[in-house]
Amino acid sequence: MDFDETPEQRALRDAVAALGRRYGHGYYVAKAKSGGRTDELWAEAAKLGYLGANIPAEYGGGGGGITELAVVCEELSAAGCPLLMLVVSPAIAATIIARHGTEEQRRTYLPGIADGSMKVAFAITEPEAGSNFHRLRTVAHRDGDDWVLRGNKCFISGLDSADFVLVVARTGDEGRLKPALFLVPTDAPGLSKSKLEMEILATESQWLVYLDDVRVPAAALVGEDPDVGLPALFAGLNPERITIAAMGIGTGRYALGRAAEYARTRAVWGRPIGSHQGVSHPLAHAQIQVELARLMVARAAALYDAGRDLEAGTAANMAKYASADAAALAVDSAIQAMGGNGMTTEYGVATLLGTTRATRIAPVSREMILNYVAQHVLDQPRSY
Ligand SMILES: Cc1cc2nc3c(=O)[nH]c(=O)nc-3n(C[C@H](O)[C@H](O)[C@H](O)COP(=O)(O)OP(=O)(O)OC[C@H]3O[C@@H](n4cnc5c(N)ncnc54)[C@H](O)[C@@H]3O)c2cc1C
Repeated sequence: MDFDETPEQRALRDAVAALGRRYGHGYYVAKAKSGGRTDELWAEAAKLGYLGANIPAEYGGGGGGITELAVVCEELSAAGCPLLMLVVSPAIAATIIARHGTEEQRRTYLPGIADGSMKVAFAITEPEAGSNFHRLRTVAHRDGDDWVLRGNKCFISGLDSADFVLVVARTGDEGRLKPALFLVPTDAPGLSKSKLEMEILATESQWLVYLDDVRVPAAALVGEDPDVGLPALFAGLNPERITIAAMGIGTGRYALGRAAEYARTRAVWGRPIGSHQGVSHPLAHAQIQVELARLMVARAAALYDAGRDLEAGTAANMAKYASADAAALAVDSAIQAMGGNGMTTEYGVATLLGTTRATRIAPVSREMILNYVAQHVLDQPRSY
């Protein structure tokens, strides 16, 4: 058992942290408030090889695993720049394509994702199918060599900045879920979108997506067999949970760092407020929760990279649960320690309330994780 990162991983962490510091939370907030995108940071991260950290070297990536991509997600978040598209494009889409795509798909998509010139969004959620994806209604039917997709998706992050969207559709009837994944160009005829207004300060918007008989060629189907879509889908969900958990850890670190600095210097009764245990203990408690969650993220990533998918699934769920709670606690505790300044834009902590709160719901809610652990770890009857 080795709790140390390799020298390469430490170097990656330091380098990503340095890049994040050059941009910082002020940059992120200004972009989010103006409806802008973090294109400069994205391009620089791509150039330095961070976006493709988990993509095989033969397709233009860094040849690392989810461990390395999680480091990138954590460190940019720790600098106050939580880039959600890292989770969607390199973690979900690239993993699915690398593991289950055809050779032609790997050559077509992976180099672009790695060098930042291509983004792929991910669309599974539907108005009638959130936690219960067995109720997916988006259908794909064959028409000659083509596939024709029809249905609606919601909460699709970053669709406006994506070149393709990886759509999960059913090819079977309603009784039996046979999901298949399709790489659909976001400008395909029949695909339209409308913005879902959210109370989250973030640089990625959420979108409703309408697929109105969208025709794609056979080569848009991920892999060659529409009947093996389920393993392909699951291949992307664990990296999604691990990297979103890593972002939560980074955000927690950022918030606690801000609050600790504030508590060391702010004096209300003639000495720093951090000398009052009523201020320092909640921060210390949150710090412990963040560190515990961080261990679980590292373990989940290590299991995933070792190909131990079943164990990685449980660990990824636990890591995501622990990280979401720890990040929400860290942000809330930081705000409390900073008093009124905790709620100002200038001090840059309350700006994270929406994103951290949302990670207790998405991409999988804490209740569904508790269901999973109760059923699969504690061997309880399925409750739903
Ligand atoms: C910021 C953000 C970004 C997102 N990005 C994407 C994206 O890019 N692509 C995408 O496809 N989706 C995305 N989503 C959607 C997200 O995955 C869903 O919101 C999530 O899966 C929950 O589904 P739901 O919102 O339909 O909630 P519901 O399924 O309606 O659940 C509502 C509540 O009931 C609880 N609940 C439901 N079933 C049970 C049960 N059996 N037992 C106990 N409790 C239960 C849930 O835990 C939840 O608290 C995003 C969501 C958000 C908020």
